[in-house]
Amino acid sequence: MSESKSEIENVRVFIRVRPLNKKELAEDHLNIVLVDTSENLIVLNKDGNGEKRKPYKFDQIFDDNSTQMDLYRVIAAPIVEKVLQGYNGTIFAYGQTGTGKTYTMAGNLSNSETKGITPNAFSHIFTQISRSSEEKSFVVTVTYLEIYNEEVRDLLSANPNKKLAIRERTDVGVYVKDLMGFTVDSVESITELLNRGNKNRVTRATLMNDVSSRSHAIFTITIESRNNADNKTIVGKLNLVDLAGSERASRTQATGDRLREASNINLSLSVLGNVISALVDGKSTHIPYRNSKLTRLLQDSLGGNSKTAMIAMLSPCDIDFEESTCTLRYAARVK
Ligand code: ADP
Ligand code: MG
Repeated sequence: MSESKSEIENVRVFIRVRPLNKKELAEDHLNIVLVDTSENLIVLNKDGNGEKRKPYKFDQIFDDNSTQMDLYRVIAAPIVEKVLQGYNGTIFAYGQTGTGKTYTMAGNLSNSETKGITPNAFSHIFTQISRSSEEKSFVVTVTYLEIYNEEVRDLLSANPNKKLAIRERTDVGVYVKDLMGFTVDSVESITELLNRGNKNRVTRATLMNDVSSRSHAIFTITIESRNNADNKTIVGKLNLVDLAGSERASRTQATGDRLREASNINLSLSVLGNVISALVDGKSTHIPYRNSKLTRLLQDSLGGNSKTAMIAMLSPCDIDFEESTCTLRYAARVK
C-alpha cells in the first residue's frame, strides 16, 4: 500500500459513477453524466442541457473508468493510516439501490481487481501490523451489525434475528448490549467473519430490485496497539458502512410494512446528512446524533478528530435522472 497523505480533511465527500450495465446498453439508454475529473465537477446532461446547468463540486469524482484501487488509495488508505494511529474513521456508501454501494464496499472478496474497500482495508491493516516494530503488540477486534427498520441486530451472532438494545454508560459511551466482538489475527480470519455476516444480512424483494438491501450494515474494526516499553495503549476504530438504498418510497410503490421501512430509511439517511453537515458547518452547537440509531451508534466516530468519508454512488443512466439528482443534492448538502 502506498504511503498516504499525512493530513486529510475531517469530512470528505466523493461521487462514484458506475458504468451503464448490459441491460441499459441493450435498451439503448444514454449515459447522462458529465464529469470534469480535473476540476472535480459533475452535472447531469438531461435532454442535452448539461452545459447550461450549474455543476456540482466534490472532493473527488470517480467516473466509470475508476478502479477499486483508485478509490482505496484516495478515500480509504489515509483513513486506515489514521485509525492505526488511534483515530476513529468512518466510510459510508450512499446511493440508490443498484448503483454500486456493495460493489464499492465489499466487491468481489476473492478477486484482487474487483475487491472493494473493506477487503483492501483488511490487507492494509495486517500488512502494517506485520511491519510494525516488535515493541508494539496489536489486538484487532471486529463487530458487524445491521440496522433494519430502526432495529439493531448482530450479524455475527448465532441468533442474528434477535433485536439488540442500545445503551449508554458514562465510561464507555454508547454501545450495543450483547453485541459479539471477535478478535482476529489474519486477513483470512477477518474475511471469514465478513462472509459470515454477509450471509445473515436482511434482504427483501422490492419492485425496484428483486433482492435489495433495506438495511444499514456497519462493519467495525477496532485496533488496539500497546507499546510494550511504556504500556501505553492507543485505540482506533474504523466503521465501514453500506447504507440502505436511498430511493424514495413512492418509486418503489411501497405500502404497509414496506412503507414504514422506507420512511425509517429516509429518516435515518436525512439525519445522517444533518449530522455530517452540522459537523462540517462547525457553527452548530447541537449535533442531532440522537435522532437515529445509525448516528447514535456512530457518534464517537463522527466529529471531533474523526475522519469521515461519504461516497455517493450514481447511476449514469437517463432513466435514473430523478434519483441521481436527489443523490447529488444530498451529497452536496452534506458538505
Ligand atoms: P447496491 O449495493 O448499491 O444496490 P451493487 O453494488 O449491488 O449496488 O451493484 C449493482 C450491480 O452493478 C452489481 O452487479 C455490481 O457488480 C455492478 N456494479 C456496481 N458498480 C460497479 C462498477 N463501478 N463497476 C462495475 N460493476 C459495477
Ligand atoms: Mg447492496
